[in-house]
Amino acid sequence: MKTIGMLGGMSWESTAHYYQALNQGVKKRLGGHHSAEVLMRSVDFSSIAEKQEQGDWLGLAETLAKEAKKLEVGGADFLLICTNTMHKVAPEIEQSLNIPLLHIADVTAKALAQSGVTKVGLLGTAFTMEQDFYKKRLIDDFSIEVVVPNGVQRKLIHDVIYQELVHGIVNSVSKSDFLVVIDDLRERGVEAVILGCTEIAMLVQPQDTVVPLFDTTELHAQAAIELALA
Ligand code: GLU
Repeated sequence: MKTIGMLGGMSWESTAHYYQALNQGVKKRLGGHHSAEVLMRSVDFSSIAEKQEQGDWLGLAETLAKEAKKLEVGGADFLLICTNTMHKVAPEIEQSLNIPLLHIADVTAKALAQSGVTKVGLLGTAFTMEQDFYKKRLIDDFSIEVVVPNGVQRKLIHDVIYQELVHGIVNSVSKSDFLVVIDDLRERGVEAVILGCTEIAMLVQPQDTVVPLFDTTELHAQAAIELALA
């Protein structure tokens, strides 16, 4: 079994879900007392969120590349960046490493393509919904059309992520708000919705919606298990 390098803490709430999914997945595959071989760096999210707000992506790229290197030196066979948003600096991180990066957008796009989805809604932080680094990969490499919520809805989703979900707060009013946004996306013709922020599955689950949900935390963890056991 390969050792999975987790660059986590963004936020630790979702990193905990990753860790559980990796271990449960390996146990399900191999049985007995098996669990995942994992090496983790969990960063202090405060300095990450601060730099995001300041738009200091260069600083973030340097910090996360340094942390990822520690995982490589420690013996990780490949890297998971356990957040969609910080894949904005995935190219810089990838460049500084000799081990492969399992890109969360590629994993998600492959799952969508396998399900025959050609038009998808995207929920995530404002960075993920509004900038190109994530959407462009789906559009250019997988020919999947990406629809994002309107401006007011994007702000609401972003604020719920940073003010509630990364603190582990699951609020029923926010859940209803998210379900309205998902329904609006469905009316705009999407065949599925990406939970493109690793904390959103804490708030909405597949049984809550008519449209299928693609949870990036779960998909990323499952792809990591496949790779670790290949
Ligand atoms: N975990 C989140 C994501 O998947 C947001 C936190 C962050 O900014 O990294 O985008």
